[in-house]
Amino acid sequence: MTHEIAVIPGDGIGQEVTPAAIEVLESFPIDFEFVEAEAGDAVLAETGEALPQETYDLAASADATLFGAVGETAADVILPLRTAVDSFVNIRPAKAYPGVDAVRPETDLVFLRENTEGVYSGLEDRLTQDVSTLTRVVTESASKRLAEFACDYVAGDEHDGFSIVHKANVMRETDGLFRDTVRDVAEEQGVETNEVLMDAFATRVCLDPEQFDVVVCPNLAGDVLSDLAAGLVGGLGLLPSANIGPERAVFEPVHGTAPDIAGEGIANPAAMILSTAMLLEYLGYEAESAAVDDAVEATLEEGPRTADLGGDASTDDVTEAIIDRL
Ligand code: ATP
Ligand code: MG
Repeated sequence: MTHEIAVIPGDGIGQEVTPAAIEVLESFPIDFEFVEAEAGDAVLAETGEALPQETYDLAASADATLFGAVGETAADVILPLRTAVDSFVNIRPAKAYPGVDAVRPETDLVFLRENTEGVYSGLEDRLTQDVSTLTRVVTESASKRLAEFACDYVAGDEHDGFSIVHKANVMRETDGLFRDTVRDVAEEQGVETNEVLMDAFATRVCLDPEQFDVVVCPNLAGDVLSDLAAGLVGGLGLLPSANIGPERAVFEPVHGTAPDIAGEGIANPAAMILSTAMLLEYLGYEAESAAVDDAVEATLEEGPRTADLGGDASTDDVTEAIIDRL
């Protein structure tokens, strides 16, 4: 079976780490068909469009999309790409690696963030000079879809259920609906859950991240708290993410275009390569996915390392070392 993969390197170091990811995928005897497409600041300057229709259409029809990074045009590219695959959940692991400086080296979390609504539904108004408003939308259907995904995600022996992070004591209707829906689905499926208020979660995860494993949360809370967790594990440079829809998905590193180092061939490819591990798992290649995770982990620990981790290796050196370990 051929898997069509849309490849959107974008701008800055996206152009450098995306080829590294493709090399990793090509090292497996899996039938991938890579189709490259443009998006971002450079194509905006050239054509007047940050996300050309053909790129959108490609992401909407490919089995999966690998996305590097885009600069100023991020909101104009990433949000429509998530829509193209109808992504209802953003998976963001935040895991500390041996050999990488971390505030909390014991951190090993996965955020499952609602990806379509909440305060990011775009319903903002300026009513008067003095007053602006925002409508927060939470639906039972989106909460249910997320909860069902979360239940599948924790199935098996690796996880003991998940934590529901919310603020239903204040936002009684919206987070109340979110909390009740997620809890009911989990109960029906026999999945264990616990509840944590989002403010308390922020403190508790800093003090003792080991008490959490899989964290299910509304859109804004997931955005903020997963960045907080990124800080605990040593910054954004190493973190992958996946935007999952019912039939396709977009995989991207959490970092941006890193304009300060772009073009020098020294970007750390780890986040992008870990995103390919998520892609492999999504397509059902679990052993291959685990092998990529292990190879990245070993390389982070034993080297070679790029400058962000105190080394002097190039993107290519690190990519080679990871492929050698596969
Ligand atoms: P953008 O607007 O595209 O997000 P930015 O200036 O915010 O750009 P980021 O890409 O978010 O930059 O990165 C923040 C910092 O982390 C920069 O100093 C960057 O060099 C560093 N960084 C991010 N990703 C990597 C990477 N893969 N390898 C090495 N350093 C990185
Ligand atoms: Mg940034």
